[in-house]
Amino acid sequence: MNELSCKVLIIGGGPAGYVAAIRAGQLGLDTILVESERLGGTCLNVGCIPSKALIHAAETRHALGDEAKLGAMGLSAAPREIDFARTNTWIKGVVSRLTGGVGVLLKKAGVRSLRGLATISDGKTALVAADTGEQRIRCEHLILATGSEPTPLPALPFGGDVLSSTDALALTQLPASLAVIGAGYIGLELGTAFAKLGVSVTVVEALERILPLYDAELTQPVARRLAELGVEVRLGARALGREGGELRIADAYGDEQRLRADKVLVAVGRRPRTQGFGLERLDLAMSGPSVRIDERCATSMRNVWAIGDLTGEPMLAHRAMAQGEMVAEIIAGAKRAFDRVAIPAVTFTDPEVVNVGLSPEGARERGEIKVAAFPFRANGRALTLQRDDGFVRIVARADNHVVLGVQAVGAAVSELSAAFALALEMGARLEDVAATIHAHPTHSEAFAEAAHAALGHALHL
Ligand code: FAD
Repeated sequence: MNELSCKVLIIGGGPAGYVAAIRAGQLGLDTILVESERLGGTCLNVGCIPSKALIHAAETRHALGDEAKLGAMGLSAAPREIDFARTNTWIKGVVSRLTGGVGVLLKKAGVRSLRGLATISDGKTALVAADTGEQRIRCEHLILATGSEPTPLPALPFGGDVLSSTDALALTQLPASLAVIGAGYIGLELGTAFAKLGVSVTVVEALERILPLYDAELTQPVARRLAELGVEVRLGARALGREGGELRIADAYGDEQRLRADKVLVAVGRRPRTQGFGLERLDLAMSGPSVRIDERCATSMRNVWAIGDLTGEPMLAHRAMAQGEMVAEIIAGAKRAFDRVAIPAVTFTDPEVVNVGLSPEGARERGEIKVAAFPFRANGRALTLQRDDGFVRIVARADNHVVLGVQAVGAAVSELSAAFALALEMGARLEDVAATIHAHPTHSEAFAEAAHAALGHALHL
């Protein structure tokens, strides 16, 4: 067995682990990164990136055949033919450009990368079944970044026609019908994309509403659009199992119903990956199913750190990356804590939804607030793009006007999340946002207008 030693050993090459490795390398720390599958983890290989590529392909196809919108501009609809195997090849191309880039960045930072499953022996040692043979790696600091995996449903175990999000993103042929279990962001993003690709989609959700992490006002435009796209949404319904190409569900009254589903996508959430690599040997304090961490991402064991989805919600790539960067800096001697005002949450449904900071309801629990929204129907850019549904909403303290939260729903509002997050991190007041010149014509003007509205004088409403 080969013996290696390093200052920092990172297990997992997803956004948490690879960013920690790059930053550690940049800071001159002798670093080894171990990844059992592919660099980039869930996000680059089977999550954020392929799903957004699929959404783009689906939207392009859908737009080409939208007679009403095209006709209004004097254009004709094109046939909506699709070679889905080629779509899949294109998506893989996007993924491999990015994952290849991660490999280059790691090399540039002087990080040693190993491919293989790491098994933890103790807080300073791991064994790796690497391509190049068995390795024992000793380290001073161990960073755990093993991520998460799709949660299965006992009644619908993954396999065959029952798909996880990973399986759904690997399809090379479109099914005629698809049932999506779970109306969270992964289920709705993928369900909407498949509907736009011509698949008959039904969403089954146990709760009484879609996207339960957002308030009802924000999700209403998404529900409306799902209906326009012909996606049937069954709320208050539970999946019971699958029989001969049909999904059995219990409706809101407990009555059993069946619906045709050539494929079933189970998207009921993700759980931290804690099994199968010796984590139990460390006997770390847990927080439910996740590894418990403090504000520095330190675990209950000295010099063992945990970052990313392994540490629980919010399971988002940008949180994972920020944690990774921070832990590398702490190991290098910096005094840092994860004290961000807000972590933006974006849902790439149609329309997109953004939440940064507190919702009106959450903010009201802390005191008096001002809330105002500006609709995209009064925004020039939205009209030029034929998408005037949705709004930007701003929430601020009533006394000093400090912005506490910003939400938006609308086409392409994901790009506004940066401005919202910056406003919160900089402690902006309504007056700061309103006084900032926002370029015309852009969606971002709705942000400034919402601030004007909260101050009692929207200009374009
Ligand atoms: P992961 O990305 O899961 O990486 C962990 C890595 O560790 C994996 O590559 C795994 O192979 C490796 N590993 C595990 N155990 C071992 C071991 N013992 N030895 C060696 N290697 C090991 N987030 C967003 O912010 N925006 C989005 O739009 C978004 N869309 C998503 C869409 C889908 C369909 C899915 C499934 C997820 C999406 N996410 C999105 C979530 C995002 O992918 C995760 O939050 C992010 O990948 C977490 O990063 P991580 O590094 O903690 O874990």
